[in-house]
Amino acid sequence: MLASVVTVALCGVEARIVTVEADITPGLPHIQIVGLPDPSVRESKERVQAAIRNSGYELPPRRVTLNLAPAEMPKEGSRFDLPIALALLAASGHGEPGALDGVLFVGELSLEGRLRPVRGALVAALAARDRRARGIVVPPGNVAEAASVEGLPIGSAETLRDVVERAGQADFFRPGTGPAPERHASPDVDLSDVRGQGAARRALEIAAAGGHNLLLVGPPGAGKTMLARRLPTLLPPLTKTATLEATMIHSVAGTLGLEGRPVLQSPFRAPHHTVSDVGLVGGGNPPRPGEVSLAHRGVLFLDELPEFRRSSLEALRQPIEEGRIVVVRAGRSATFPARFQLVASMNPCPCGSAGDPRHPCRCTSAEIRRYRARLSGPLLDRIDLHVWVGPVEIERLTGDGAPEEGSAPVRARVIASRERQAERATLRPGIASRNAELSGRALVRTCALPPGGRRLLAGALRRRGLSARAVHRVLRVARTIADLEGEERVGLPHLAEALRYRLLTEVPSEA
Ligand SMILES: [Zn+2]
Repeated sequence: MLASVVTVALCGVEARIVTVEADITPGLPHIQIVGLPDPSVRESKERVQAAIRNSGYELPPRRVTLNLAPAEMPKEGSRFDLPIALALLAASGHGEPGALDGVLFVGELSLEGRLRPVRGALVAALAARDRRARGIVVPPGNVAEAASVEGLPIGSAETLRDVVERAGQADFFRPGTGPAPERHASPDVDLSDVRGQGAARRALEIAAAGGHNLLLVGPPGAGKTMLARRLPTLLPPLTKTATLEATMIHSVAGTLGLEGRPVLQSPFRAPHHTVSDVGLVGGGNPPRPGEVSLAHRGVLFLDELPEFRRSSLEALRQPIEEGRIVVVRAGRSATFPARFQLVASMNPCPCGSAGDPRHPCRCTSAEIRRYRARLSGPLLDRIDLHVWVGPVEIERLTGDGAPEEGSAPVRARVIASRERQAERATLRPGIASRNAELSGRALVRTCALPPGGRRLLAGALRRRGLSARAVHRVLRVARTIADLEGEERVGLPHLAEALRYRLLTEVPSEA
């Protein structure tokens, strides 16, 4: 007897429909799985047999062939346990005929037959909706995530036996209620927490407005991490599309949690410098998104940038340039979105004290050169803003002086400047909607130099050895500063300020 059950396989952040066919024929008792199963799927055979037995069912002692179609698509993970068990039971005459038709099933099984959550329930539910399935059945731990697909009928049960007995009943399914409501807790961080640091606050605002990557250089304890953590509070709320993209990535990574809440705020990810290359950019078997993808539409913070492995920093180039990462494994590839804003921090020298008037630096200039050389030129090349974060003056720390500006007014200015950038992109085709992405040609069209501007740039080129690419970065930042001030034309003060955010060699340590 033949039976089939529909499920999905994950490929990057997409779900592809897979049909599990079970065929039971006379012959020696044996179960064979065909259709490019990963070793993790082959293991499922043992789990499924135990789950079926412990649920009180018996499989006939015959020859069983399980086929996962289409055969050329790789299948991984334990998500096939439930559909495989259901196909086996249906082929051996258990359950109501037709009860499984038009429904998608995903779920892992425990040996005693309980349903366990799997990664990617949201993308599976989206696939069910796109396919106009009658519904989807997921483990209890995935219900909130699947239910965020509004109107899609969702069924769930604690055990395999419950699914077999109830899947044919009309009241087994409940329509998805849409995304869980936003929690109105006030964010736990705010820019007003940062005392002093006028220059760094300004650089943070410019970075937020233009989407520029940012490098914070300064001694330990100056508040670099504190500043970086506040960048997401300055960014505009995520659009619907961005929320969906980010939520799909977190669904596939299995980081949405039991509540399955959508990602509504720009994510902030801060991997430690000991992170593996796979942990940072994604990969592994099955391929999973890395930190660069979990930071999609948000901020990736790399504290102590020179401490990261060189290979990790090299691996960042593709996502920074393309906004996505292609993970190749055993000749197969998966693509994960990875459009993030990079904030990095570093000490000015190995001992950390260079430029700090309170502690003398004991590093030799050769040690400082070696330390900075750990950063690859191409990576530094992609960071538009370098800013010095000095030790905070004592009176600021003790709370004297005027209150500091909070995130809300800064965010309002950032949003206004983003609107100007978006308007320019609409009016002039071929121009990126974020200044950080303006190409050299687009810069010529949007950053006409003010009188004296060429001389100012030429002087900087000569004195500091700025490259042509560095000049582009200066122009992009100047464009953002002008946008923050509502100016259509880039003026000399904008250019002069943008020049201050260049070059690591300007760190006071060299003085
Ligand atoms: Zn030092």
